[in-house]
Amino acid sequence: MTRSQTLAATSAKDSGAARTLFFDHAFLPGGWARNVRIAVADGAISQVVTDADAAGSERVKGIAVPGLPNLHCHTFQRGMAGLAERRGPGDDSFWTWRDVMYRFLGRLTPEDVEAIAAYAYAEMLERGFTAVGEFHYIHHGADGTPYADLAEMASRVTAAAGATGIGLTLLPAFYAYGGFGAAPAVAGQRRFLNDPQRFLRLVEATRAAAANLPSTAVGIAPHSLRAVTPETLAEVVKATPQGPIHIHIAEQVKEVDDCLAWSGARPVAWLYDHMPVDARWCLIHATHMTADETQRMAASGAVAGLCPITEASLGDGIFNGPEFLAAGGRFGVGSDSNIEIDAAGELRLLEYSQRLGRRGRNIMTTEAGESTGHRLFTAALAGGAQALGRPIGSLAVGQRADIVVLDAEHTSFSTVAREHWLDSWIFVPGRPAVDSVFAGGVKVVDGGRHLQRDAIAARYRATLGRLIDA
Ligand code: ZN
Repeated sequence: MTRSQTLAATSAKDSGAARTLFFDHAFLPGGWARNVRIAVADGAISQVVTDADAAGSERVKGIAVPGLPNLHCHTFQRGMAGLAERRGPGDDSFWTWRDVMYRFLGRLTPEDVEAIAAYAYAEMLERGFTAVGEFHYIHHGADGTPYADLAEMASRVTAAAGATGIGLTLLPAFYAYGGFGAAPAVAGQRRFLNDPQRFLRLVEATRAAAANLPSTAVGIAPHSLRAVTPETLAEVVKATPQGPIHIHIAEQVKEVDDCLAWSGARPVAWLYDHMPVDARWCLIHATHMTADETQRMAASGAVAGLCPITEASLGDGIFNGPEFLAAGGRFGVGSDSNIEIDAAGELRLLEYSQRLGRRGRNIMTTEAGESTGHRLFTAALAGGAQALGRPIGSLAVGQRADIVVLDAEHTSFSTVAREHWLDSWIFVPGRPAVDSVFAGGVKVVDGGRHLQRDAIAARYRATLGRLIDA
């Protein structure tokens, strides 16, 4: 299927998504409700009725919950999952993993990126994510020359989202330097590089590409403090008065040390001292913060973009969870490197990493008697929606009709009362519990499988076969 056909098919489906669904149980903004009728028009929820009659509705078996936003993803990295798990000659770290990643991405064509993205997005839908924030930084050809269409790669990502049905927030990354203090970029970074002027043209071209797909948002993503200078960061932020702003920050101890050596300040403190950080911002990782940085971040309304599975995989460290929560901080989760894609799994490891670090239990809650799963899920729904800048994250009128339906016959649910269902979904993994998924009101997953899985997986296997042999 060509790109234009893919987009056309999705547009037709979205506009045709007028339907009324009926669920025995649904998780609404006020909590669990029974006999819930949800009407969908133009991909959005137009009516929610509880204690309703099923007559005239499509009855959907299972337990309806809002799809979780995946606020941080580098989709192409799904293709190298498992390829960096071999010990090198010295101590392995984030930085040696990055060398493997640079070698992998050096080979990717636009077709490869589209094929890998489609597979990753289909997996996300199968595992409970219905929207993704694509922190997109491969912009140019392998030698660093821009494509004729500056947004060629962004168009491929958009096409993959269209083919799978996942909601998309595209975050073109601004990457100008190889390290703090305007250090020159290395060869492995040349596909990312732009000066502010060309980057802003790229953002405009990305907006044009995204306009082909309904309910897509575009923000910006200054890659990290090491990839910008104060002047260039200020320039791209100032030129972008609306939409989400995402940045990697304080992921690694070395990054903190390098930032201190460059500026005398730690990364999060430096950002708050120099940038107007507010609720538009999403600070990815924010792993290494002092108590003061934690308080400043929580008070600003910015979202912490936590990626627990990737942070564990890369050996990053553990986020200041309890202090951030106690200060009213907002967070969401992301699949980042996509080594494992699972909405419930990210929430589970977020809590478990806190337990390992603090040697306690039920850490990411603040009140006695509160369900940890409920708190994790509702906080990540709200934080993820805020970070992605789109009307998502709850089963309420006006929201995109992104509905994940859990298998009510699964032993995680059939043996416990409903106040335990979110805890069971998150903390009792076993067989995946997602049965069907509606994205923008369109059914895209049935029986735990994406409806296009066979074709998308065949293309992914062919792509990876070629790349890994190369
Ligand atoms: Zn990342």
